[in-house]
Order: sequence, then structure tokens, then C-alpha cells
Amino acid sequence: MTSACDIRVRGVVQGVGFRPFVFRLAHANTLAGWVLNDEEGVEIHLEGAEPALDEFVRSLVASSPPAASIAAIDVHPVLPSGFQDFTIRESRQQGHPTTRISQDLPVCDDCLAELLDPANLRYRYPYINCTNCGPRYSVILNLPYDRGNTTMRTWPLDGYCAAQYRDPMDRRFHAQPVACPACGPHYALRGGGETIVGDDASIARAAELLNSGQIVAAKGLGGYHLACDARNAAAVQSLRNRKFRKEKPFALMVSTIEIARELVELSGDAESLMTSAARPIVLARARAGLGGVSRDVCPDVSHGNDDLGVMLPYTPLHHLLFAAGAPEILVMTSANRSSEPISYRDEDALDRLDGIADAFLIGERPIARRVDDSIARATAFGPVVLRRARGYAPAAVTTIPIAKSILAVGADLKNTVTLVVKGQAFVSQHIGDLDQYESLQAFRETVDDLISMYQVPRQSLIVARDAHPQYLSSSYALDFGEAHYAIQHHRAHIASVLAERAAWDKRVLGVSFDGTGMGDDGSIWGGEFFIGSLVGGFERIAHLRPARLAGGDAGAGYPVQAAAGFLAQVEGLPNLHIEPFLFPERYEKALELTRRDVRTFTTTSMGRLFDAAAALLGFTREITFEGQAAMWVEHLARTESFTEPYEFPVRREDHAMELDFRPLLGALAVDRSRGRDQAQCARAFQRGLAKGLCDALSILCETFATETVVLSGGVFQNELLLEDLKSFIAGGRLDIWTNRSVPPNDGGISLGQAALAAFAHLNHA
Ligand SMILES: [Zn+2]
Ligand SMILES: [Zn+2]
Repeated sequence: MTSACDIRVRGVVQGVGFRPFVFRLAHANTLAGWVLNDEEGVEIHLEGAEPALDEFVRSLVASSPPAASIAAIDVHPVLPSGFQDFTIRESRQQGHPTTRISQDLPVCDDCLAELLDPANLRYRYPYINCTNCGPRYSVILNLPYDRGNTTMRTWPLDGYCAAQYRDPMDRRFHAQPVACPACGPHYALRGGGETIVGDDASIARAAELLNSGQIVAAKGLGGYHLACDARNAAAVQSLRNRKFRKEKPFALMVSTIEIARELVELSGDAESLMTSAARPIVLARARAGLGGVSRDVCPDVSHGNDDLGVMLPYTPLHHLLFAAGAPEILVMTSANRSSEPISYRDEDALDRLDGIADAFLIGERPIARRVDDSIARATAFGPVVLRRARGYAPAAVTTIPIAKSILAVGADLKNTVTLVVKGQAFVSQHIGDLDQYESLQAFRETVDDLISMYQVPRQSLIVARDAHPQYLSSSYALDFGEAHYAIQHHRAHIASVLAERAAWDKRVLGVSFDGTGMGDDGSIWGGEFFIGSLVGGFERIAHLRPARLAGGDAGAGYPVQAAAGFLAQVEGLPNLHIEPFLFPERYEKALELTRRDVRTFTTTSMGRLFDAAAALLGFTREITFEGQAAMWVEHLARTESFTEPYEFPVRREDHAMELDFRPLLGALAVDRSRGRDQAQCARAFQRGLAKGLCDALSILCETFATETVVLSGGVFQNELLLEDLKSFIAGGRLDIWTNRSVPPNDGGISLGQAALAAFAHLNHA
């Protein structure tokens, strides 16, 4: 008795070896029918014995390819049509695509073994890949995912590759970027007036240059990297000078996980992140502690910061570089000048990196779009992605229950955009800070790219943007779309956590701590507490006590300027004009402006409170990257194990509860003026913050009858704050939710905007 069924599979099921897997599974169960890729995923038609059909469906889920991720399977019984065999049909295009584009994958173990096997035809071939590994998002030009729609379309397959491509039993069956040395692209090295062609020769020369302290720009998966020997102080210093990157830490690539373990303290979670298919840069504590990094890595790599960002090789090229004798710990930083976006086009790289790189290792395969390395870390509340890009983007993060398409354009710092199509929320790769011209260009390109990839008509979009009308992303978003929603920044942070977990009507206490974002009243918020849900909206119920700060955005670069604003409210301050912290003139001027209320703004920003503490602790110069002062306080505090927290009480004011910073900063100032150890003071401040937050959570959760707390915003990248908070709430009933797949910093804002706009729209309709 022959039965039949149609099966629809949604999720990341294209470009990951899914059809050959289905083919083999059908054969193993003696089933006839067909499988095809279309814009919604994979469709399967099966005919055969009932038990065989059941077994097929069970195995489909249980043993799907490693890189696949099944979101949903629908099985419908149908009448048999009398198929005699099982075939893989051509891709079908109709309607508009909602299939999930696979993210780029690291080279798999099978390909790696072939890469290093002299008997293999692809021995030392830097473009080796198969259906289980290799480029995807970074080579896709259009959907559906077929070779003709990738940047490999200009390299026709030779007989060897074509035979594997057509053989359903082969690992390279329909592997779209498949290539071999005879028919595929190659690498060449340019520099010092010479060009070395040939994969082996160019990679060997690059390894030599790295060993001799030179800086090499190497074309990777989603852009160029600047690489140098991490143990060569002169090389690291010249990279900093040439890149105009004074202090921001550089990422490292190490040849093996063993070396990573020697360099940093890797928890189980951290090691899982590092070896995961996304192969992100993992932030972890350096083993030798502040300043004196282990294994002779030059301290300049992370500049007084005891966290290192470490990743493993993920392309065949990286493995070949190490195999050719390149230093086993390399600085591997995005190739750009200062905070521009990563270079990914050859001509542009040669032009923009001229004077930075000594040589260029250029691969012929074009990169369809820039995709930076991702950054992740294992925190006290679980693993979190801090920069979402290669290996994660553009996978759907969640499914929002709305039929209309939504474009959320994010915030102006650490920008990402989110496109919702048929409910699936695709979060873009990290784009950058939009105040840079190149980043703004990249932002526009990414929006156009996503919209055209999923073929969404621009005019029919619901557009979500930040409430700040002067944001560049906001003004861009006003030009199109059917409906617009301005979403308050800190509510978007909270919404990002809830959207990740599809917790649409969950009522929570939301805490949003960050540097800056426009509030409902036009002031700068950043220390906010809300009660509510995605469906019902969020009401602000508490915040940091407001301060008036001088100097607008320009002042944000100077911690002493923030200190002046906050300290203006602290009574009985000790005389700050004593060693060891003589405030520079800027402090006096800002204090004067604050007292006269000239050119000041009101803020409840926790980021600025950290700046004030940093100034009191001795960080009185200008910062050179966003969040630097807070990171400095955290790492200083980390060197001290236990200290009584400073007082940071919750008080009821006229309309809302306030966290009062006056005792916190007052105690810090007094301690410092008495000459108490800097690190002890930093620790007491950090613990005070955690204790104050914990007390506020207890009071507010009780008042508003909830036990679920959502924490988001850039301040929660402070791992010590999370650890201290966890220790203070230990044994309590509070359930703490933090971000997982999108960053707690502004990189997560676009997802939150999309979710809030969806429910605002549904509530209106
Ligand atoms: Zn492979
Ligand atoms: Zn070939």
C-alpha cells in the first residue's frame, strides 16, 4: 500500500547540504518523489510505505546537516502520483522570497583534511569548500541560492568539480561555491613593487612578511583584515599609528584552541562560543591579568584592558597561513582607517589601506557584501553576541506575528537594521557608527540589499526608527514606507530581549542602562526602569536621579565634564584640588557652566555616571573610543576582590522612583581625597551600583507584582556589574533575562524597534 505526503521545511535549509541529505534519506528508506528549493525553503514530495514515511520524517529532524537549522516542518498527506524514483528538481521561483539565507560557515573538518593532504586535488587550495562549509551570505548576489546568483558565477566548473556538483552522493553535490585549483579563483600577493602569483607562493611570502614584523592586508570571507605578529611590539605599534587607532583593543587570531586556552581563561560557555560555527571573536580574561599578557603577547594589543578578543581560524586561507609558518598569534583586525567600515572591494582596499599595509594578499573571488567578524562573550547570565555579523547574519532571530513587512533602521551608533518579512525578523550584520560618511553609505547599501534580496516593495513597508529626529537613520527612514513609528530608544533595548524570546505579552520590569538616547521629555535618558510588555507598551517608573551636564555631545569625550555635572549636586564635597587627582581646567569650566545653567542638558545616563566615576578615579583625559571610561573603571575594579559597596539608594521623588547618585559619588570623592587605593574605590563603586540596582529591582518587582526582569543597554556589557548583581540577588526569586542573539548595545536596537512597531501597528489596526 503506497502512501504519499508533501513536506514543507522552513529555516536555514539552503546552501547547507539539505537536498542531498534528503536525497540520501529517501534512498535509505526506499521512497520515491522529489525535493526542491524555493523562496520559502525546501519542499519535499514522498511516496512509499507508511512506516518508511514516518521514519523519514523522524530522521529529517534528528540527523539534519550540521549547518542546517530547521524552524518548522509541515507534513500534509496527499494522493500518490505514481513516482518510481527520487529526484532533485531545479529551484523554483515564485512570489517573494522568505527563505533564510545561510550565514557564512567555517571550513569543515573533511575539507580541512583534504586541504592538508598532498594526495588531494585541492591540496593547499584556499577556496576549498563543500555543502557543509564555506561562504554563503558573503557570496550571494540574489535568491534563490544557485551558482549563477553568487560571486562564483564567472568561474565555470571543470569536469572534476562538475561531476561532484552533480552527484547526489557527493559532499559537494550542489555546493554552489565549489571550485578546484584548475577551474577556480586564486590568491596573489602585492607589495613592495612586486606581485607574487600562485596560492602557495603568495601565502608563503605573506607568512614570511608577518614573521618579519610587516603588516599584511589579507582578503577573508567578508572583508579585508590587517594582520601582524601579536608578539612583535614594533609591528603592533606601527599598526596602531598607521590605522589611527590609539587604544581600542585589537582582536587576535590564534592557530589552535590550545593556544587560546593559554592566552585567556576560557569557561565551557566561552569555549563553545569560540568553536561554534559562527567562530566569533570571544572576549575573555587574559591569563596574566592587567598589562602583563601571557605568552609574550605585546600589551599594546589591548592597552591596559585585561580582556582579550580571541578567535580561531575559519577560512582555508587562515589555516594555510598558519601551516606556512605565520606567527601562531596574529593581530587580526578589520581593515579600515579608524572607525570606517571594513574594506571588502579590492580596489577600495588597495586605495584606503595604502600606507597602512605593507603587502596585500588578494583573493580573486569577489565579496558580495561586507561582513565583519562577530564578537561574543560568556557572561554571568549566559552567552551573548556583542557584535552580530559573520556567522550570525542574516539569520532570522525570531518570528514576529505580523503579516506586513517592517524595516527598522536602528540607532546611529553600532548600527544594524532589521527587516521583517512574513514575520521573520532578519537582523543585518553590524554596520557601524553612522557619523562616518562611509558607514552611512554602508547603511544605505545594507537597507537596499535586504529589501531587494527579499523583494519587498519599499512603499508598502512599515518603517520603525529612533525617536531622535536628528538621527541620520531617522531622516533616511522618513523618505519611504506606508506607516512610520518613532520608537523610544530605551524601550527598544528592552523590546530586543523580549523579541528574541518571542515573549509578546510577558509583563516584565525592564531596566535600560546606556550612554545616550532621547527620552519622552526630550532630555537624554540612559538609566531607566519600565514596567509593561511588548503588546501593551512600557511605562517609565523609575530612573537615575537627573543631572545637568555642560557641553552637549562634545563633552561626552571628557569624563571630567560629566563629573562636573554630577558633582555639582553633591553637598559637602571634599576639596578636590589635592593630589592625587588634580582636575584639569576643563572641570572648572564645566562646573561654572553647570552652576550658571549655560549650554547644559539634563540627563539620567548611567554611561555618564560611569564617566563621572572614571574622572574621580583618575581618568581625566579625553576618551578615544565610546565606552572607554566605563571599561577602564570595570577593569580597574576587577583587580580588587571584595569591598563594601558605596551606598546608592532608591528614593521616591515627586513622580517616580530615583536611584540617588549623590551618596555614591560623594563617598567615592571622600575616599579618593583621603588617598584610598584607586582599585578599591573602583570596586566599591561597581559594587555600589550593583547593590543599588538589586535593591531597586526588589522594590519595583514587589510594587508592580512581577518577578521577571529584563536588562539591556550598553552598560550591561560590563561583565563585573552582571557578576556582582548575580551575587546580590542570589537566592532571590527574580528571573533575569538578558540579550542572547542580538547585542545589549545599540546593535540590538533595530530588532526592538521592529517588535514595538509591529505591536503598535497591530494595536492601531
Ligand atoms: Zn567542507
Ligand atoms: Zn574544478
